[in-house]
Amino acid sequence: KLITFEGIDGAGKSTHLAYFADLVKARGQRVIVTREPGGTPLGEKLRDLLLHEKMHIETEALLMFAARREHLAQVIEPALARGDWVISDRFTDASFAYQGGGRKLAEQKLVALEQWVHPHLQPHLTLLFDVPLDVARSRLDATRELDKFEQEKADFFAATREGYLRRVEQFPHRFRVIDSTRPIETIRQELRDIAATL
Ligand code: C5P
Repeated sequence: KLITFEGIDGAGKSTHLAYFADLVKARGQRVIVTREPGGTPLGEKLRDLLLHEKMHIETEALLMFAARREHLAQVIEPALARGDWVISDRFTDASFAYQGGGRKLAEQKLVALEQWVHPHLQPHLTLLFDVPLDVARSRLDATRELDKFEQEKADFFAATREGYLRRVEQFPHRFRVIDSTRPIETIRQELRDIAATL
């Protein structure tokens, strides 16, 4: 199974991913934890470019999917073929949210790239960590330096969040929206409930 974690910057997804992966491992399942953009040596180089270089939005989208192609070939597809589960910190929904919603790239171009790069694979389950914009921003400001993407205006994040919520409307069967404004222990309880149903 491929399980993906999504959410705007500061929504807390990465904190909860490690906890969730341990829950799944505790059930005896072999789990590969990975992330996008990145996940392979080449993908991490592309991530560095994507996070720090100014570029055209279509270049950005193409590099995201190039990194994803490599990630699928080197990590995700072999793991799934072995019967391992893969938990990825972001996947293609992030492209629809950030490049599509946030940066306004036409959805049809993203659909075409998705068709090219993984026509037959979709996540089994996607956990969307959702928080209002002001909560996400205050969390980010407190913890670390902002990267190129994070410095963008609040309306970018609002549009990105909307992009995610549109994906939920389109694919309700595979999304779980986690209200990430709640205390960590409450969210962990929800994660334990979800892991128990897998
Ligand atoms: O999830 P993580 O915080 O590691 O993502 C790194 C950055 O890449 C984030 O700031 C996010 O805004 C950006 N990103 C993006 N488009 C994607 C995936 C990530 O702009 N498809």
